[in-house]
Amino acid sequence: MTVVMKFGGTSVADPDAIDRLIAIVTRETPRDRGPRIGNAPIVVVSALAKVTDALVAVCRYAEDGEVEIAAQALRALLDRHLTVATAVTTDSRSSLVTSVRAEFDELISLVHALAVLREVSPRSQDAVLAVGELVSSRIVAAALVDRGIPSVWVDARAVLVTDAEHTAAAPDMIATCERARARVAPEHAAGRVVVLGGFIGSTASGVTTTLGRGGSDYSAAIVGACLGVDEIQIWTDVNGMLTADPRVVSHPRLVPRLSFAEASELAFFGAKVLHPSTILPAVHKNIPVRILNSRRPENPGTLITAEGRPDAAGLTALACKRDVTVVDITSTRMLMAHGFLRRLFEVFERFRTPVDVVTTSEVSVSVTVDDTRRLDDILEGLRHFAEVSSEREMAIICAVGENLRSDPAVFARAVTALDRVPLRLVSQAASRRNITFVLRDADVSEAMMRLHDEFFGGD
Ligand code: ADP
Ligand code: ASP
Ligand code: MG
Repeated sequence: MTVVMKFGGTSVADPDAIDRLIAIVTRETPRDRGPRIGNAPIVVVSALAKVTDALVAVCRYAEDGEVEIAAQALRALLDRHLTVATAVTTDSRSSLVTSVRAEFDELISLVHALAVLREVSPRSQDAVLAVGELVSSRIVAAALVDRGIPSVWVDARAVLVTDAEHTAAAPDMIATCERARARVAPEHAAGRVVVLGGFIGSTASGVTTTLGRGGSDYSAAIVGACLGVDEIQIWTDVNGMLTADPRVVSHPRLVPRLSFAEASELAFFGAKVLHPSTILPAVHKNIPVRILNSRRPENPGTLITAEGRPDAAGLTALACKRDVTVVDITSTRMLMAHGFLRRLFEVFERFRTPVDVVTTSEVSVSVTVDDTRRLDDILEGLRHFAEVSSEREMAIICAVGENLRSDPAVFARAVTALDRVPLRLVSQAASRRNITFVLRDADVSEAMMRLHDEFFGGD
């Protein structure tokens, strides 16, 4: 069996976490294999915990022209990486330290130039953020080699080919799979653990890109799909997909199994444990995805497959997306007049802003948006043909379950459980796999608790 193992930021945060990673990888790597068996795992790693956030902050300092603060922040990051690199290596230490320093030297000059210019384009931001995954993956590869596990670092930018949509690039699967076959497969066939940084790629002409925040899960799924692995494992800091976000509901339960479709909905509506695009490559090649806790590797975790759980009673899980904005659009002419919806969505399209939930009534259309950077332009565009208002500090709760299709009572139970929590919009998707509620952000905790109590029992 060949697996791709992706380790998130907290699973590579410090020397102890890297030791745990090594133990997990070792368990999977046969040591007494013959020369051609080659089923060592392929390892994809995130930047060390909080490093991407720190690099985003560095970009903001550079934009503000804060040359010295940016340089200070980078020195602190370099120190942290050197400490970890030194702690996890012996024989490989000096070459690792040299390469970590070299990455940071380049980064420090780049950020200095950006801070002088006070301009950080999405393209420059990608170059800055990519360093987090470049250095973490080098550290992990060197640490594995030092423990006697045949391993090799491969620059993920030479494998993942993407479009040029900086900060949210999309993979070119054909080109990426060609490169994965050329650069990853031979090392893997030779029995080596291939270590790649997640989240990063490059355009066909070689400019560094990133897949968007949380994108290392997606990288793992892309590489796994290209190589036709048997399982994509997401190693993180919780036991698996939980029945609700543990930051919102105090004692959510583990969901042992769920379907690709349910996992996609949950990820899309806020279950941060999976990047929303992770499931796409897995579905395409029908590869199971497993979410596992790197602190408790003996736990079974959550298995995500096409079929999902066999006993699909009630709901599978809840997710919530905080801080969204509702836009209400009322036609100034006859509402569902020919072309109205087309014009409406064209405005969102023009400003490249996706909408999450859409509901219509006789007189108006309401949508929710997460990304409000172009909201003023959008409202202005809509006002040419409609009356428009918007409301911030709203949230979406999404209740997901394959069983919603066959058991109409689930919907009624959900609405009843919410009792007097004021709901702004309610919608059930055509797939009938989810119910979404839009409500005030301030009511999210109460609403999630009520729904969780009803379907999964109290704390
Ligand atoms: P990593 O760094 O390993 O990628 P993330 O922080 O991206 O980890 O994702 C794991 C976190 O996702 C958990 O610590 C948890 O707080 C959050 N989370 C939100 N919703 C869920 C859910 N339904 N199940 C599990 N975790 C969730
Ligand atoms: N390091 C990146 C982030 O924090 C990617 C990832 O961890 O998945 O967004
Ligand atoms: Mg993540």
